[in-house]
Amino acid sequence: MMKTGFKIVLTADRTLMSEYQGGIFMGFSACVPRGIIPDFLYFSLFSPSIDHKAGIVRVAPLGLRKIEAALLEKGFNENEIVAAHPDHLDRVIGSETRILSISAMDPLGMGPASSTFSKLWEGECYMPYKFREILGNKVVLKHRNNINIVVGGSGAWQLTDERMRHALDIDYVVDGEGEEVVPGLFRDILNGTRREHVVEGKVVEEPPCVTKPTICGVVEITRGCGRGCEFCVPTMLRHRSMPLDKILREIEVNKKAGKGIVLHGEDVFRYKADGLIPNKNEVVKLFENAEKAAGFGNISISHLAFSTVCSAPDVAGKISEILYLGSKEYPYTGAQIGLETGSPNLISNHMKGKVKPFKPDEWQSVVESGLGICNDAHIVPTATLILGIPGETDDDIIKTIELLDDIKNLKFVPVPLLFVPLGRFNNARFCEKKDLNENHWQLIHRCAEIFIKKFDELYPDYARMAGHGAITRSAIKLLAGYGKKRARDYMISSGYTPDF
Ligand code: SF4
Repeated sequence: MMKTGFKIVLTADRTLMSEYQGGIFMGFSACVPRGIIPDFLYFSLFSPSIDHKAGIVRVAPLGLRKIEAALLEKGFNENEIVAAHPDHLDRVIGSETRILSISAMDPLGMGPASSTFSKLWEGECYMPYKFREILGNKVVLKHRNNINIVVGGSGAWQLTDERMRHALDIDYVVDGEGEEVVPGLFRDILNGTRREHVVEGKVVEEPPCVTKPTICGVVEITRGCGRGCEFCVPTMLRHRSMPLDKILREIEVNKKAGKGIVLHGEDVFRYKADGLIPNKNEVVKLFENAEKAAGFGNISISHLAFSTVCSAPDVAGKISEILYLGSKEYPYTGAQIGLETGSPNLISNHMKGKVKPFKPDEWQSVVESGLGICNDAHIVPTATLILGIPGETDDDIIKTIELLDDIKNLKFVPVPLLFVPLGRFNNARFCEKKDLNENHWQLIHRCAEIFIKKFDELYPDYARMAGHGAITRSAIKLLAGYGKKRARDYMISSGYTPDF
Protein backbone atom coordinates (compact mmCIF):
# COMPACT_ATOMS: atom_id res chain seq x y z
CA MET A 1 0.00 0.00 0.00
CA MET A 2 1.30 3.39 -1.00
CA LYS A 3 0.48 5.59 2.01
CA THR A 4 0.29 8.98 0.34
CA GLY A 5 -1.15 7.82 -2.96
CA PHE A 6 -0.79 9.46 -6.40
CA LYS A 7 -1.96 13.02 -6.90
CA ILE A 8 -3.99 12.12 -10.03
CA VAL A 9 -5.60 8.72 -10.38
CA LEU A 10 -7.08 7.78 -13.76
CA THR A 11 -9.37 4.76 -13.88
CA ALA A 12 -12.39 3.23 -15.61
CA ASP A 13 -15.04 0.82 -14.47
CA ARG A 14 -14.17 -2.87 -14.37
CA THR A 15 -16.12 -3.70 -17.57
CA LEU A 16 -13.68 -1.47 -19.48
CA MET A 17 -10.67 -3.08 -17.80
CA SER A 18 -10.85 -6.34 -19.72
CA GLU A 19 -9.68 -7.53 -23.12
CA TYR A 20 -12.69 -9.86 -23.41
CA GLN A 21 -10.61 -12.93 -24.23
CA GLY A 22 -9.06 -11.23 -27.25
CA GLY A 23 -12.38 -10.16 -28.77
CA ILE A 24 -13.05 -6.44 -28.42
CA PHE A 25 -16.68 -6.81 -29.62
CA MET A 26 -17.33 -9.34 -26.84
CA GLY A 27 -17.43 -6.11 -24.81
CA PHE A 28 -21.10 -5.97 -25.89
CA SER A 29 -21.64 -8.63 -23.21
CA ALA A 30 -21.18 -5.93 -20.52
CA CYS A 31 -24.45 -4.45 -21.77
CA VAL A 32 -26.36 -7.60 -20.81
CA PRO A 33 -28.17 -7.46 -17.43
CA ARG A 34 -26.54 -8.96 -14.40
CA GLY A 35 -28.00 -12.16 -13.02
CA ILE A 36 -28.37 -14.12 -16.27
CA ILE A 37 -25.18 -15.88 -15.24
CA PRO A 38 -23.46 -15.47 -11.85
CA ASP A 39 -21.09 -12.46 -11.66
CA PHE A 40 -18.04 -14.59 -10.87
CA LEU A 41 -18.64 -16.68 -13.99
CA TYR A 42 -19.23 -13.62 -16.16
CA PHE A 43 -16.08 -11.84 -14.95
CA SER A 44 -13.87 -14.90 -15.21
CA LEU A 45 -15.19 -16.28 -18.48
CA PHE A 46 -16.30 -13.31 -20.63
CA SER A 47 -14.64 -10.33 -19.00
CA PRO A 48 -11.45 -11.46 -17.24
CA SER A 49 -9.49 -8.67 -15.60
CA ILE A 50 -6.37 -7.13 -17.15
CA ASP A 51 -3.10 -7.42 -15.19
CA HIS A 52 -1.96 -4.86 -12.70
CA LYS A 53 1.06 -4.34 -10.49
CA ALA A 54 0.35 -2.72 -7.13
CA GLY A 55 -2.90 -1.36 -8.60
CA ILE A 56 -1.22 0.10 -11.73
CA VAL A 57 -2.58 -1.38 -14.94
CA ARG A 58 -0.34 -2.59 -17.75
CA VAL A 59 -2.88 -1.68 -20.43
CA ALA A 60 -5.75 0.83 -20.22
CA PRO A 61 -8.70 2.02 -22.35
CA LEU A 62 -7.68 4.22 -25.29
CA GLY A 63 -9.59 7.28 -23.97
CA LEU A 64 -7.85 7.08 -20.61
CA ARG A 65 -4.44 6.73 -22.30
CA LYS A 66 -5.16 9.79 -24.49
CA ILE A 67 -5.94 11.89 -21.40
CA GLU A 68 -2.80 10.60 -19.69
CA ALA A 69 -0.77 11.55 -22.79
CA ALA A 70 -2.40 15.03 -22.89
CA LEU A 71 -1.50 15.61 -19.23
CA LEU A 72 2.11 14.58 -19.79
CA GLU A 73 2.35 16.75 -22.90
CA LYS A 74 1.09 19.76 -20.91
CA GLY A 75 3.79 19.39 -18.30
CA PHE A 76 2.26 17.18 -15.60
CA ASN A 77 4.84 15.00 -13.93
CA GLU A 78 4.71 11.28 -14.73
CA ASN A 79 5.19 10.50 -11.03
CA GLU A 80 1.98 12.24 -10.04
CA ILE A 81 -0.29 10.38 -12.50
CA VAL A 82 -1.32 6.74 -12.43
CA ALA A 83 -3.63 4.55 -14.55
CA ALA A 84 -5.24 2.41 -11.91
CA HIS A 85 -7.26 -0.79 -11.63
CA PRO A 86 -10.73 -0.02 -10.23
CA ASP A 87 -10.64 -3.06 -7.94
CA HIS A 88 -7.32 -1.98 -6.38
CA LEU A 89 -7.76 1.74 -5.77
CA ASP A 90 -6.57 1.24 -2.17
CA ARG A 91 -3.07 0.69 -3.62
CA VAL A 92 -2.93 4.09 -5.37
CA ILE A 93 -5.23 6.48 -3.50
CA GLY A 94 -4.01 8.12 -0.31
CA SER A 95 -3.78 11.38 1.57
CA GLU A 96 -2.04 13.18 -1.37
CA THR A 97 -4.64 12.19 -3.96
CA ARG A 98 -6.53 15.21 -5.29
CA ILE A 99 -8.19 13.98 -8.49
CA LEU A 100 -9.94 10.72 -9.30
CA SER A 101 -10.72 10.80 -13.01
CA ILE A 102 -13.06 8.12 -14.37
CA SER A 103 -13.40 7.30 -18.08
CA ALA A 104 -16.99 6.21 -18.54
CA MET A 105 -18.65 4.65 -21.55
CA ASP A 106 -22.11 4.10 -20.10
CA PRO A 107 -22.27 5.24 -16.46
CA LEU A 108 -26.07 5.12 -16.17
CA GLY A 109 -26.71 2.29 -18.64
CA MET A 110 -28.46 4.69 -21.03
CA GLY A 111 -26.34 3.88 -24.12
CA PRO A 112 -28.07 2.09 -27.02
CA ALA A 113 -26.76 -1.42 -26.29
CA SER A 114 -27.18 -1.43 -22.51
CA SER A 115 -30.56 0.27 -22.54
CA THR A 116 -31.76 -2.28 -25.12
CA PHE A 117 -30.60 -5.36 -23.27
CA SER A 118 -31.61 -4.06 -19.86
CA LYS A 119 -35.12 -3.24 -21.14
CA LEU A 120 -35.61 -6.47 -23.06
CA TRP A 121 -34.29 -8.67 -20.26
CA GLU A 122 -35.47 -6.39 -17.47
CA GLY A 123 -32.44 -5.91 -15.28
CA GLU A 124 -29.48 -3.61 -14.74
CA CYS A 125 -26.43 -4.25 -16.89
CA TYR A 126 -22.85 -4.44 -15.65
CA MET A 127 -21.57 -0.99 -16.66
CA PRO A 128 -23.59 1.30 -14.35
CA TYR A 129 -23.24 -1.18 -11.51
CA LYS A 130 -19.47 -1.24 -11.83
CA PHE A 131 -19.34 2.55 -12.30
CA ARG A 132 -21.17 3.09 -8.99
CA GLU A 133 -18.82 0.62 -7.35
CA ILE A 134 -15.93 3.07 -7.96
CA LEU A 135 -17.89 5.96 -6.44
CA GLY A 136 -18.71 3.85 -3.40
CA ASN A 137 -15.21 2.42 -3.00
CA LYS A 138 -14.12 2.54 0.67
CA VAL A 139 -10.81 4.29 0.03
CA VAL A 140 -12.48 6.88 -2.22
CA LEU A 141 -15.02 7.63 0.52
CA LYS A 142 -12.30 7.77 3.17
CA HIS A 143 -10.41 10.50 1.28
CA ARG A 144 -13.48 12.06 -0.34
CA ASN A 145 -12.96 15.48 1.26
CA ASN A 146 -9.61 15.86 -0.48
CA ILE A 147 -10.53 14.22 -3.76
CA ASN A 148 -12.27 15.82 -6.75
CA ILE A 149 -14.14 13.29 -8.84
CA VAL A 150 -14.05 14.01 -12.57
CA VAL A 151 -15.92 11.91 -15.14
CA GLY A 152 -15.23 11.99 -18.88
CA GLY A 153 -15.40 9.61 -21.81
CA SER A 154 -18.02 8.77 -24.41
CA GLY A 155 -20.75 8.27 -21.78
CA ALA A 156 -20.19 11.58 -19.96
CA TRP A 157 -23.30 13.09 -21.67
CA GLN A 158 -25.39 11.00 -19.24
CA LEU A 159 -24.06 13.00 -16.29
CA THR A 160 -24.37 16.61 -17.43
CA ASP A 161 -27.67 16.99 -15.54
CA GLU A 162 -26.97 18.77 -12.24
CA ARG A 163 -29.36 16.62 -10.15
CA MET A 164 -27.76 13.43 -11.39
CA ARG A 165 -24.28 14.78 -10.68
CA HIS A 166 -25.33 15.70 -7.15
CA ALA A 167 -27.07 12.38 -6.59
CA LEU A 168 -23.90 10.52 -7.53
CA ASP A 169 -21.64 13.06 -5.81
CA ILE A 170 -19.54 13.80 -8.89
CA ASP A 171 -17.67 17.13 -8.96
CA TYR A 172 -16.87 17.64 -12.64
CA VAL A 173 -18.03 16.22 -15.95
CA VAL A 174 -16.11 16.66 -19.19
CA ASP A 175 -18.55 16.27 -22.08
CA GLY A 176 -16.86 15.79 -25.47
CA GLU A 177 -13.23 15.46 -26.52
CA GLY A 178 -11.04 15.92 -23.45
CA GLU A 179 -7.41 16.24 -24.54
CA GLU A 180 -7.53 20.02 -24.94
CA VAL A 181 -9.57 20.94 -21.86
CA VAL A 182 -8.64 18.36 -19.21
CA PRO A 183 -5.08 19.58 -18.45
CA GLY A 184 -6.43 23.10 -17.74
CA LEU A 185 -9.29 21.71 -15.66
CA PHE A 186 -6.90 19.60 -13.58
CA ARG A 187 -4.52 22.57 -13.05
CA ASP A 188 -7.44 24.71 -11.86
CA ILE A 189 -8.70 21.97 -9.57
CA LEU A 190 -5.23 21.55 -8.05
CA ASN A 191 -4.96 25.33 -7.62
CA GLY A 192 -8.43 25.46 -6.08
CA THR A 193 -9.76 27.92 -8.67
CA ARG A 194 -12.24 25.86 -10.65
CA ARG A 195 -15.91 26.86 -10.68
CA GLU A 196 -18.13 25.45 -13.49
CA HIS A 197 -18.88 21.77 -13.11
CA VAL A 198 -19.70 20.74 -16.65
CA VAL A 199 -16.81 21.38 -19.00
CA GLU A 200 -17.45 21.27 -22.74
CA GLY A 201 -14.80 19.36 -24.64
CA LYS A 202 -13.08 20.89 -27.68
CA VAL A 203 -12.48 19.34 -31.08
CA VAL A 204 -8.82 18.31 -31.11
CA GLU A 205 -7.09 18.35 -34.48
CA GLU A 206 -4.24 16.04 -33.54
CA PRO A 207 -4.62 14.26 -30.22
CA PRO A 208 -1.32 13.36 -28.52
CA CYS A 209 0.20 9.90 -29.00
CA VAL A 210 -0.36 7.41 -26.22
CA THR A 211 2.87 6.55 -24.41
CA LYS A 212 1.66 3.30 -22.85
CA PRO A 213 -0.30 0.35 -24.28
CA THR A 214 -4.06 0.29 -24.69
CA ILE A 215 -6.67 -2.39 -24.08
CA CYS A 216 -6.77 -4.75 -27.09
CA GLY A 217 -4.01 -2.63 -28.70
CA VAL A 218 -6.55 -0.09 -29.97
CA VAL A 219 -4.88 2.62 -32.09
CA GLU A 220 -6.92 5.61 -33.24
CA ILE A 221 -6.54 6.29 -36.97
CA THR A 222 -9.46 8.66 -37.48
CA ARG A 223 -11.78 10.60 -35.18
CA GLY A 224 -15.33 11.71 -36.00
CA CYS A 225 -17.40 10.77 -38.99
CA GLY A 226 -19.08 13.67 -40.77
CA ARG A 227 -22.01 11.71 -42.25
CA GLY A 228 -24.30 13.63 -39.89
CA CYS A 229 -26.98 11.07 -38.93
CA GLU A 230 -29.56 12.89 -36.79
CA PHE A 231 -29.42 10.36 -33.93
CA CYS A 232 -25.62 10.43 -33.59
CA VAL A 233 -23.56 12.27 -30.97
CA PRO A 234 -22.34 15.77 -31.98
CA THR A 235 -18.69 14.81 -31.42
CA MET A 236 -18.95 12.67 -34.57
CA LEU A 237 -19.46 15.71 -36.78
CA ARG A 238 -15.83 16.49 -37.72
CA HIS A 239 -13.86 13.78 -39.49
CA ARG A 240 -10.10 13.87 -38.93
CA SER A 241 -7.30 11.44 -39.81
CA MET A 242 -4.20 10.96 -37.69
CA PRO A 243 -0.74 11.30 -39.30
CA LEU A 244 0.79 7.96 -40.31
CA ASP A 245 3.95 8.48 -38.25
CA LYS A 246 1.87 8.94 -35.08
CA ILE A 247 -0.17 5.83 -35.84
CA LEU A 248 3.02 3.82 -36.32
CA ARG A 249 4.40 5.20 -33.06
CA GLU A 250 1.29 4.00 -31.21
CA ILE A 251 1.51 0.60 -32.91
CA GLU A 252 5.11 0.38 -31.67
CA VAL A 253 4.06 1.23 -28.09
CA ASN A 254 1.46 -1.54 -28.17
CA LYS A 255 3.64 -4.03 -30.00
CA LYS A 256 6.38 -3.69 -27.37
CA ALA A 257 3.73 -4.77 -24.87
CA GLY A 258 2.99 -7.84 -27.01
CA LYS A 259 -0.37 -6.56 -28.22
CA GLY A 260 -2.22 -7.24 -31.47
CA ILE A 261 -3.53 -4.01 -33.01
CA VAL A 262 -7.06 -2.79 -33.65
CA LEU A 263 -7.08 0.16 -36.05
CA HIS A 264 -9.91 2.30 -34.72
CA GLY A 265 -12.04 4.80 -36.59
CA GLU A 266 -15.76 5.22 -37.27
CA ASP A 267 -15.17 4.28 -40.89
CA VAL A 268 -11.69 2.85 -41.25
CA PHE A 269 -11.65 2.86 -45.07
CA ARG A 270 -12.10 6.65 -45.04
CA TYR A 271 -8.65 7.18 -43.59
CA LYS A 272 -7.34 10.46 -45.09
CA ALA A 273 -10.37 10.66 -47.38
CA ASP A 274 -11.27 14.14 -48.53
CA GLY A 275 -15.03 13.60 -48.35
CA LEU A 276 -16.91 10.32 -48.42
CA ILE A 277 -15.02 8.37 -51.10
CA PRO A 278 -11.99 6.41 -49.84
CA ASN A 279 -8.54 7.63 -50.70
CA LYS A 280 -7.31 4.24 -51.84
CA ASN A 281 -3.61 5.11 -51.95
CA GLU A 282 -3.61 6.43 -48.38
CA VAL A 283 -5.67 3.52 -46.97
CA VAL A 284 -3.44 0.97 -48.66
CA LYS A 285 -0.31 2.80 -47.47
CA LEU A 286 -1.68 2.82 -43.92
CA PHE A 287 -2.47 -0.90 -43.91
CA GLU A 288 0.82 -1.90 -45.56
CA ASN A 289 2.80 0.06 -42.99
CA ALA A 290 0.65 -1.08 -40.08
CA GLU A 291 0.93 -4.74 -41.10
CA LYS A 292 4.70 -4.39 -41.46
CA ALA A 293 4.96 -2.75 -38.04
CA ALA A 294 2.58 -5.10 -36.20
CA GLY A 295 3.45 -8.37 -37.93
CA PHE A 296 1.37 -11.10 -39.57
CA GLY A 297 -2.14 -11.65 -38.21
CA ASN A 298 -1.89 -8.77 -35.77
CA ILE A 299 -4.07 -6.12 -37.41
CA SER A 300 -7.83 -5.92 -37.12
CA ILE A 301 -10.29 -3.07 -37.65
CA SER A 302 -13.05 -1.49 -35.59
CA HIS A 303 -15.76 0.07 -37.81
CA LEU A 304 -16.73 0.33 -41.46
CA ALA A 305 -19.65 1.82 -43.44
CA PHE A 306 -21.53 -0.05 -46.19
CA SER A 307 -21.65 3.00 -48.45
CA THR A 308 -17.89 3.53 -48.17
CA VAL A 309 -17.26 -0.13 -48.93
CA CYS A 310 -19.50 0.08 -52.03
CA SER A 311 -18.10 3.38 -53.26
CA ALA A 312 -14.63 1.87 -53.71
CA PRO A 313 -15.30 -1.88 -53.99
CA ASP A 314 -11.66 -2.83 -54.64
CA VAL A 315 -10.41 -1.36 -51.33
CA ALA A 316 -11.80 -4.15 -49.12
CA GLY A 317 -10.18 -6.83 -51.31
CA LYS A 318 -6.83 -5.03 -51.29
CA ILE A 319 -6.86 -4.62 -47.50
CA SER A 320 -7.84 -8.27 -47.14
CA GLU A 321 -4.83 -9.23 -49.26
CA ILE A 322 -2.48 -7.06 -47.18
CA LEU A 323 -3.75 -8.64 -43.95
CA TYR A 324 -3.75 -12.20 -45.38
CA LEU A 325 -7.41 -12.57 -44.46
CA GLY A 326 -8.87 -15.89 -45.56
CA SER A 327 -5.65 -17.71 -44.70
CA LYS A 328 -5.75 -20.75 -42.43
CA GLU A 329 -4.28 -18.71 -39.57
CA TYR A 330 -6.48 -15.64 -40.11
CA PRO A 331 -9.75 -16.81 -41.69
CA TYR A 332 -11.67 -13.58 -41.12
CA THR A 333 -11.84 -10.36 -39.17
CA GLY A 334 -14.85 -8.50 -37.74
CA ALA A 335 -15.92 -4.84 -37.95
CA GLN A 336 -18.90 -2.96 -36.58
CA ILE A 337 -21.25 -1.40 -39.18
CA GLY A 338 -24.45 0.61 -38.75
CA LEU A 339 -27.13 -1.11 -40.84
CA GLU A 340 -29.85 0.77 -38.89
CA THR A 341 -32.87 0.08 -41.13
CA GLY A 342 -34.08 -1.37 -44.40
CA SER A 343 -36.35 1.61 -44.99
CA PRO A 344 -35.30 4.17 -47.61
CA ASN A 345 -37.82 6.55 -45.98
CA LEU A 346 -36.09 6.50 -42.61
CA ILE A 347 -32.74 6.86 -44.34
CA SER A 348 -34.04 9.84 -46.26
CA ASN A 349 -35.62 11.46 -43.20
CA HIS A 350 -32.90 10.95 -40.60
CA MET A 351 -29.64 9.66 -42.05
CA LYS A 352 -29.19 10.84 -45.62
CA GLY A 353 -25.45 11.12 -45.08
CA LYS A 354 -25.15 7.44 -44.18
CA VAL A 355 -25.88 6.31 -47.73
CA LYS A 356 -23.89 8.98 -49.65
CA PRO A 357 -22.63 8.97 -52.41
CA PHE A 358 -25.67 6.76 -53.12
CA LYS A 359 -29.32 7.73 -52.84
CA PRO A 360 -31.65 6.77 -49.97
CA ASP A 361 -33.72 4.48 -52.21
CA GLU A 362 -30.52 2.56 -53.04
CA TRP A 363 -29.86 1.75 -49.35
CA GLN A 364 -31.07 -1.87 -49.49
CA SER A 365 -28.80 -2.68 -52.42
CA VAL A 366 -25.92 -0.77 -50.79
CA VAL A 367 -26.29 -2.97 -47.69
CA GLU A 368 -26.54 -6.17 -49.70
CA SER A 369 -23.63 -5.36 -52.02
CA GLY A 370 -21.53 -3.95 -49.17
CA LEU A 371 -22.04 -7.09 -47.14
CA GLY A 372 -21.14 -9.25 -50.15
CA ILE A 373 -17.95 -7.23 -50.72
CA CYS A 374 -17.04 -7.54 -47.03
CA ASN A 375 -17.63 -11.29 -47.01
CA ASP A 376 -15.58 -11.77 -50.21
CA ALA A 377 -12.81 -9.89 -48.40
CA HIS A 378 -13.27 -12.16 -45.33
CA ILE A 379 -14.74 -9.38 -43.19
CA VAL A 380 -17.72 -10.37 -41.03
CA PRO A 381 -19.61 -7.28 -39.84
CA THR A 382 -21.47 -6.89 -36.58
CA ALA A 383 -24.42 -4.92 -37.95
CA THR A 384 -26.43 -2.74 -35.55
CA LEU A 385 -30.09 -1.86 -36.27
CA ILE A 386 -32.30 0.80 -34.65
CA LEU A 387 -35.87 0.07 -33.54
CA GLY A 388 -38.34 2.78 -32.60
CA ILE A 389 -36.75 5.85 -34.18
CA PRO A 390 -39.32 8.74 -34.11
CA GLY A 391 -41.64 8.60 -37.08
CA GLU A 392 -41.02 4.89 -37.77
CA THR A 393 -44.02 3.12 -39.35
CA ASP A 394 -44.92 -0.58 -39.68
CA ASP A 395 -43.94 -0.35 -43.33
CA ASP A 396 -40.42 0.77 -42.29
CA ILE A 397 -40.07 -2.21 -39.94
CA ILE A 398 -41.34 -4.64 -42.59
CA LYS A 399 -38.79 -3.28 -45.06
CA THR A 400 -36.05 -4.03 -42.52
CA ILE A 401 -37.36 -7.58 -42.04
CA GLU A 402 -37.40 -8.06 -45.82
CA LEU A 403 -33.83 -6.80 -46.06
CA LEU A 404 -32.74 -9.25 -43.34
CA ASP A 405 -34.44 -12.07 -45.26
CA ASP A 406 -32.50 -11.08 -48.38
CA ILE A 407 -29.11 -11.08 -46.66
CA LYS A 408 -29.56 -13.82 -44.06
CA ASN A 409 -27.30 -16.25 -45.91
CA LEU A 410 -24.38 -13.82 -45.91
CA LYS A 411 -21.99 -13.68 -42.97
CA PHE A 412 -22.83 -10.98 -40.45
CA VAL A 413 -24.06 -10.71 -36.88
CA PRO A 414 -27.15 -8.50 -36.45
CA VAL A 415 -27.64 -6.57 -33.21
CA PRO A 416 -31.03 -4.81 -32.83
CA LEU A 417 -30.94 -1.73 -30.58
CA LEU A 418 -33.79 0.34 -29.16
CA PHE A 419 -33.70 4.01 -30.10
CA VAL A 420 -31.86 6.33 -27.68
CA PRO A 421 -32.46 10.10 -27.98
CA LEU A 422 -29.08 11.54 -28.88
CA GLY A 423 -27.85 14.24 -31.23
CA ARG A 424 -30.65 16.23 -32.85
CA PHE A 425 -33.17 13.91 -31.19
CA ASN A 426 -32.12 14.78 -27.66
CA ASN A 427 -35.61 15.93 -26.72
CA ALA A 428 -37.26 12.76 -28.00
CA ARG A 429 -38.28 9.78 -25.87
CA PHE A 430 -36.32 6.55 -25.38
CA CYS A 431 -37.92 3.55 -27.12
CA GLU A 432 -39.25 1.27 -24.36
CA LYS A 433 -40.15 -2.40 -24.38
CA LYS A 434 -43.83 -1.43 -24.18
CA ASP A 435 -43.46 0.52 -27.44
CA LEU A 436 -42.56 -2.62 -29.39
CA ASN A 437 -45.31 -4.00 -31.61
CA GLU A 438 -45.68 -7.37 -33.32
CA ASN A 439 -43.51 -6.31 -36.28
CA HIS A 440 -40.73 -5.17 -33.97
CA TRP A 441 -40.79 -8.58 -32.28
CA GLN A 442 -40.69 -10.31 -35.67
CA LEU A 443 -37.61 -8.23 -36.44
CA ILE A 444 -35.98 -9.06 -33.08
CA HIS A 445 -36.69 -12.76 -33.60
CA ARG A 446 -35.19 -12.62 -37.10
CA CYS A 447 -32.05 -11.02 -35.69
CA ALA A 448 -31.81 -13.63 -32.91
CA GLU A 449 -32.27 -16.43 -35.44
CA ILE A 450 -29.50 -15.13 -37.69
CA PHE A 451 -27.26 -14.40 -34.67
CA ILE A 452 -27.61 -17.94 -33.32
CA LYS A 453 -26.99 -19.61 -36.69
CA LYS A 454 -23.94 -17.45 -37.39
CA PHE A 455 -22.53 -18.11 -33.93
CA ASP A 456 -22.40 -21.84 -34.65
CA GLU A 457 -20.72 -21.13 -37.99
CA LEU A 458 -18.21 -18.51 -36.85
CA TYR A 459 -17.26 -19.41 -33.28
CA PRO A 460 -14.78 -22.27 -33.98
CA ASP A 461 -12.48 -19.99 -36.05
CA TYR A 462 -13.08 -17.07 -33.68
CA ALA A 463 -12.07 -19.19 -30.68
CA ARG A 464 -8.92 -20.34 -32.44
CA MET A 465 -7.90 -16.79 -33.43
CA ALA A 466 -8.68 -15.40 -29.97
CA GLY A 467 -6.75 -18.26 -28.35
CA HIS A 468 -9.65 -19.56 -26.26
CA GLY A 469 -8.49 -22.53 -24.20
CA ALA A 470 -10.41 -25.80 -23.91
CA ILE A 471 -12.21 -24.73 -20.72
CA THR A 472 -13.33 -21.39 -22.17
CA ARG A 473 -14.48 -23.04 -25.41
CA SER A 474 -16.47 -25.70 -23.57
CA ALA A 475 -18.05 -23.18 -21.19
CA ILE A 476 -19.00 -20.81 -24.01
CA LYS A 477 -20.50 -23.68 -26.05
CA LEU A 478 -22.44 -24.85 -23.02
CA LEU A 479 -23.83 -21.36 -22.39
CA ALA A 480 -24.57 -20.88 -26.10
CA GLY A 481 -26.49 -24.20 -26.14
CA TYR A 482 -28.48 -23.10 -23.09
CA GLY A 483 -29.15 -19.66 -24.63
CA LYS A 484 -30.24 -21.28 -27.90
CA LYS A 485 -32.75 -23.50 -26.11
CA ARG A 486 -34.15 -20.59 -24.09
CA ALA A 487 -34.43 -18.46 -27.26
CA ARG A 488 -36.15 -21.27 -29.15
CA ASP A 489 -38.67 -21.87 -26.34
CA TYR A 490 -39.37 -18.14 -26.07
CA MET A 491 -39.87 -17.72 -29.82
CA ILE A 492 -42.21 -20.72 -30.03
CA SER A 493 -44.24 -19.44 -27.07
CA SER A 494 -44.58 -16.09 -28.93
CA GLY A 495 -45.90 -17.87 -32.03
CA TYR A 496 -42.64 -17.61 -34.04
CA THR A 497 -41.16 -20.76 -35.61
CA PRO A 498 -37.36 -20.45 -35.37
CA ASP A 499 -35.21 -21.87 -38.11
CA PHE A 500 -32.55 -23.43 -35.84
S1 SF4 B 1 -22.50 6.96 -39.98
FE1 SF4 B 1 -22.42 6.24 -37.85
S2 SF4 B 1 -20.82 7.44 -36.85
FE2 SF4 B 1 -21.37 8.47 -38.76
S3 SF4 B 1 -22.88 10.01 -38.16
FE3 SF4 B 1 -24.00 8.17 -38.84
S4 SF4 B 1 -24.32 6.97 -36.95
FE4 SF4 B 1 -22.74 8.52 -36.50
